[in-house]
Amino acid sequence: MVFRERPFLLRDFVGKAMRFLDSEEALSMGFVHDRARTLPCKWKCSDESVFGVDLCLYAYTGQYPFDKGRIGGRFNEGAVAAAVHHAPINVDFGGAHVGYETSPAGGRFGRIPRPLHGHSMSADCGALMALVQPFRDLYDEACKNILVFCPPGTRGIVSIPNEFIQPSWSTHRIKLLVDLEALTVGVVPYDADLGYTHKVVGRSLFRLHPRFMETMSKHGLGAQPVPIGRELTAEYFNIFDTGAEIGDDGVPKERVLPYMKHIVSGRDAPAALKIAVISTNLEHNSLTDCVRAEAYRPYSFACFTGVFIDVYDDELEAYVNLFQPLGLNIKPAGRTRDVELAPAEIRAIFDKIELAEPRLPIDQVMGHQRPTRPLEDFVFTPGRYEDV
Ligand SMILES: [Zn+2]
Repeated sequence: MVFRERPFLLRDFVGKAMRFLDSEEALSMGFVHDRARTLPCKWKCSDESVFGVDLCLYAYTGQYPFDKGRIGGRFNEGAVAAAVHHAPINVDFGGAHVGYETSPAGGRFGRIPRPLHGHSMSADCGALMALVQPFRDLYDEACKNILVFCPPGTRGIVSIPNEFIQPSWSTHRIKLLVDLEALTVGVVPYDADLGYTHKVVGRSLFRLHPRFMETMSKHGLGAQPVPIGRELTAEYFNIFDTGAEIGDDGVPKERVLPYMKHIVSGRDAPAALKIAVISTNLEHNSLTDCVRAEAYRPYSFACFTGVFIDVYDDELEAYVNLFQPLGLNIKPAGRTRDVELAPAEIRAIFDKIELAEPRLPIDQVMGHQRPTRPLEDFVFTPGRYEDV
């Protein structure tokens, strides 16, 4: 949804954010921006491709940003107590990051060139990609190996490898289980006279649910079995890690895990972008929860959260970061209540705002003039992309 709008060039976003903090609008939300008492902070991954965030904050504030992040773009709650000890006003910029390569079909997410280190391509964000990869592999396997067909005299049949029905059939710690109630309406009994009922070892046959057949009828389903492919949407399966560490609250400590089925099977955006967006939202929730705590009542927070999109600019021979805002949280001093702005509200405000004057010569700090190509080359729109 948020990517119906183009991202900002990060350095423009930071410039606008700085102007916003001094605005009447921020003041009306209770935020009093006193530069001398403000600590710029970042929470993001350690990856060198996202170092532009540090440079932008340094250029705009003249201060080194305080680190509230961990690898993978996680928000480190433990760092907040230290940060408010340094300064009573915290301005946070944070989120997950994802690499982007342009292509006429809408671009690819999840990788970036690393020419300085002799790699033509590598995962970006490596941590998030490593987390999602085994889920993607298993999902792809299911898409290939679950077969659907419509022999004459039937209303559609699905042949499912037993490992996708019975968790004990595979030794893999990540399991994908078909939701038989959603996808099927009962087993197909063996009939010696009907060839299609003759089961293949290790598979089970079911009659397809009429609702699934409605979506399939657009493609037309023949008598020969074909892979179910991306028609295996999130409503028809579950995917989970049997070895996941579970917290005291009974949910996985890795909080993005329950969203994996949507991440790997969504068709509007690739898994690499989805995991970055969902992970950023989850981290933003822990951040807003944290700053509402009674202990932080005396302090002010302005938290700009979004996804950093890393692009390697061949001409500049440098990484350039775009930024898609997902949330802005203002928590004024003396309160535990905050103001939360959604992406559309942030955009409505930011579209009208000019850039603030950087404290330091920004082109020198960034190592190059304001780039235009990475933003022009960002051609992704929901549903328009190439999968890596
Ligand atoms: Zn990373």
